[in-house]
Amino acid sequence: MNSCSIRSCPGKYELRHIMHLVKHHGNVVVFENVLAEVCDACGDTLLALNTVEAIETMLQNPGPPVRTVPVYHVPDTLSA
Ligand SMILES: [Zn+2]
Repeated sequence: MNSCSIRSCPGKYELRHIMHLVKHHGNVVVFENVLAEVCDACGDTLLALNTVEAIETMLQNPGPPVRTVPVYHVPDTLSA
């Protein structure tokens, strides 16, 4: 596989299925089973153009979701 595009990262990309979050009209939409190249060192993620296009097409008419997920807000933890 190709070397990571992040300068000074020694990692290489490997094909994995990932979850991909997209903000769409103010909502977060989660896509799972997205084929992506993921750096084995830093986690940088690349989506193929046809994958991005497939997601954009699905966003136009996504149909019912396979499931919905709870979302939690984590308060800031920086101490004063
Ligand atoms: Zn990397």
